[in-house]
Parts: sequence; C-alpha cells; structure tokens
Amino acid sequence: MKAQPKGSHFIDGRYVDDAAGDPLEVIHPATGEIIARLNAATPAIVEAAIASAKIAQIAWARLRPLERGRVLRRAADLLRARNDEIARIETLDTGKPIQETLVADPASAADALEFLGGIVAGFNGEFVELGGAFGYTRREALGVTVGIGAWNYPIQGAGWKSAPALAMGNAMVFKPSENTPLSALALAEIYIEAGLPPGLFNVVQGFGAVGHALVSHPDVAKVSLTGSVPTGRKVLGLAGSLMKHATMELGGKSPLIVFDDADLENAVSGAMLGNFYSAGQVCSNGTRVFVQENLHDRFVERVTARAKTIRLGDPLDPDTQMGPVINKTQYDKIVGYIDIGRNEGATLACGGGAPKLQGFENGFFIEPTVFAHVRDDMRIAREEIFGPVMAVLSFRGEDEVVTRANDSEFGLSAGVFTRDMARAHRVIGEIKAGSCWINTYNVCPPELPFGGFKQSGIGRENALESLRHFSQVKAVYVETGDVVSPY
Ligand code: NAD
Repeated sequence: MKAQPKGSHFIDGRYVDDAAGDPLEVIHPATGEIIARLNAATPAIVEAAIASAKIAQIAWARLRPLERGRVLRRAADLLRARNDEIARIETLDTGKPIQETLVADPASAADALEFLGGIVAGFNGEFVELGGAFGYTRREALGVTVGIGAWNYPIQGAGWKSAPALAMGNAMVFKPSENTPLSALALAEIYIEAGLPPGLFNVVQGFGAVGHALVSHPDVAKVSLTGSVPTGRKVLGLAGSLMKHATMELGGKSPLIVFDDADLENAVSGAMLGNFYSAGQVCSNGTRVFVQENLHDRFVERVTARAKTIRLGDPLDPDTQMGPVINKTQYDKIVGYIDIGRNEGATLACGGGAPKLQGFENGFFIEPTVFAHVRDDMRIAREEIFGPVMAVLSFRGEDEVVTRANDSEFGLSAGVFTRDMARAHRVIGEIKAGSCWINTYNVCPPELPFGGFKQSGIGRENALESLRHFSQVKAVYVETGDVVSPY
C-alpha cells in the first residue's frame, strides 16, 4: 500500500523537495506500514514558500471578490470530482473508515469553498453618514497567512482555513500535521487546476519547528492553528509577541446533556456520533454525557448495546465503521485513560479493550468504550482523551447540570437533547461554549461559525466570521465641504 506524492512540498504551482529536511515517514494507522516518505521543510523551503506567496498575493488581492470566489467554487467542484481518490488518501493517512471519508472529508472542504466562494462578493464594508461628510470601511486582505493543521480532519482543515483566506485576497502557506501530510497536496493541485495563480496556496511539510518558523517569519501576517491547547498557547503567545493576527481552534471536553423527556434513540445516536465517529478523534466531541437520573440506566443499556455492534476493522473495507486511532502515542494515551477510568472507580459498561485484529496486528485499534457512574472530579471527565471513550454522568435538575457542564477549562461545544424547546434554548443560552447543538450532535455546515470559548480557542472558522478573521478593516473619512481649520 503506497500513497507516495510527487513531492514533499507544493510551492508556486509545483512540487518541490529538499532532501536535507528531516525524514518524515507517513504511517497507515491500521497496519503500521510506511505509505510515503517525505522530508520536513528546511529553512530554504520555508523561505521559498513565503516569498512566492508574498509576490502572488499582491495581484490576487486586487481582483474583484467575485472573480476570486469563482476560482474557489471551481475548486469545490474539482474536489467533489476527485472525492473518492482523496477519501482513499485520507483513509490511508488517518486510518478513518472509508465509509466516513467518502461522505465527510473532501465533501466538507468542498462545502466551505463553495459557500465562502459564493458569499465573499456580498461581504462588504459599511457606509457611514457623517452629516456633510461621510465615511466608509473596506475589508482588506492581511497578506501572507499561515494555516497549521491537526491530523484528525486534514483536508477539511486545509479547506476551512484556505477558503476564507483566499476569498479575502490573502495567500496561505499551509503546514499539515506531520501525521497526515498527504491530502493538502491534492488540494494544492486542485487549486491550480481551478485557476488559482501559483503561490497563493503553498504546502510545506514538517513538525512543530516548521510551524514555529512560519509563524515567526516577518512577512507572515496571521496564523490559523488547529491543534491541542498546549500548542495553541505556544503559537498564540508567539503570534501575540509579534503582533500577528491569530485564530486558535483547540481541544475540548464538551458536555452533551440528555433530559429524561428526550427521544432516547436519537439521544443515543447523538452520543455515539459525538464519541465514536473518527474513533473519537474529534475536537468537538460530547465526551461528558450528562443523563437525567430517570433515564440514566436505560440510556447506558441502549448505548452499550449499540456500541457493541460497531464494526472495527480494515478502514478501506466499506463495511468497517471504526478504524484505528492515529498512532502509537495516541493509542498509549487512550489505553492509559481507560486504565485511569477503571482505577478511579467508574463502571466500565462496555469496551475497554485494544484488540489485535487478524491481518492488522500492528494497527492502533481501541474498542468503543463507555464508562458509567462517572463523577465530575474524575480525570476521564476533565481531560481531553481524544479517543473512543464516552463518560456517562447522572444529573437531577437543570440548574445543577448547567453548572456542572460549565465546570471545565474548555468551552468548544455542547449539546442538549430534550423535547422541551423552551428548555433547550434556555440551557444552550447558559452554556459557555462556541459550537452548540439541540437534538443532534457534531453537524458542522460551513454556514455556521465554528470555534470555542475559554481554553478551546479564539476566533472562528466558517461563515461570515471566518471572512472577518481573515481580513482587516480600513476606515475612510471623506470630506465633501471645506476643511475647517483654526490656522
Ligand atoms: P498538536 O497540537 O500536536 O499539533 C497541531 C499542529 O501544530 C501540527 O501541525 C503540529 O505540527 C503543529 N505544531 C506543534 N507545535 C508547534 C509550534 N510550537 N509552533 C507551530 N506549530 C506547531 O495537535 P494534534 O495532536 O495534531 O491534534 C489534536 C488536537 O487538536 C486535539 O487537542 C484536538 O482537540 C484539537 N483539534 C481541534 C479542532 C478544533 O477545530 N477546535 C479540530 C481538530 C482537532
């Protein structure tokens, strides 16, 4: 199984390599097999990527937004045309089942390109009446921007970051996660085919040091990072010290609240999607499932019965519902948390094992795991595990559950299941989180902004918010009469 790209990096419309860069081996998480060998960017590669972006950005920013949007919408169509091929790359790279990547990953990137490419022409400044004089504002590009991706949604991340950047007239240098470097290269090819001038979307590979070099560069105006909170603190600190714009999409430990009047099967479906999709490697997952006490036992029974039917296996098999987690480090971390949960006294309702599947003995598979009778102070209820581990907690009343749900350093997401709509809106109104759902979970269309409160981040992706975050405002005062002067 090979997925070797034509080169490590994509700069100024073509693949480039520099063998002096640190080796970067790409592993298929289901087998441990090396599927591609790349090199991390050297300082010369970083410099070339930023230099070409800087030149290309000037003419791009002068285009009519409608014309920029047209390129993005063409790229969206090309992404959809290459959906199956890119889904396969994504499955090899991430280990996520092909039944997910075929419907979720390139499709979500394409949706963002299509939506932002369409709406950008209507995203304008304001006219301000000043009595005789008037003013107006312009939304201007920032210049060269940097995108740094996480490994769980590689093509989606590349699309969600580059679409608003390019729509607003910026260039972007994108560094994928070192774990999943492949699909961003396919997006770079697609942009060129769609008519994006070379240099506007460059991809450079590498570890944290390359991300650091990109953010530090004096010609870079903004960074948009998806990653963990510790990385976010470092990158935001660096950007702040250099007075650069920054968007941080970080981790979470989000609450999913199920009231006893909820449709049980829908609530169970929501909790399963919010804990087991992508083997639980989703930042917005509802990993603290608060269930009202009358419903608690039936909920645990149903979620357990259904979790046991999830088919683990070869991610390339269309019948597989859950693949491995990304790598040994994450595998060890998740298995460690399952032990912690047991030792803390939570009830292991199902899963907990790390099976060796025939033919995939080196894969990083972990069973869908449900802990019941979890307490708020347990580490499995406080820390982001980023694997297929659900914690079910019982609650009595609305005020109590809102307080407990908000008792977290994170604030990315939240969900509520109830048939009482007044209560649903009231509870969501009280929850300190940026991306919330009522009677569903983890649905992220590009029409809605996405991002976190508190330690979960700063700034937003998607929707008009993302266009704001990839632009700066210029105010212009226009005098129509004489200048009033005391001199
Ligand atoms: P990570 O923080 O290890 O790495 C993220 C990216 O940052 C990688 O590309 C990495 O190379 C780069 N990086 C690391 N150190 C850097 C530095 N000092 N300077 C610049 N770049 C640096 O995160 P990960 O393990 O790839 O992803 C998992 C985390 O991402 C989880 O915490 C998850 O919750 C979070 N996540 C958040 C969202 C969101 O939108 N909020 C989405 C997906 C994942």
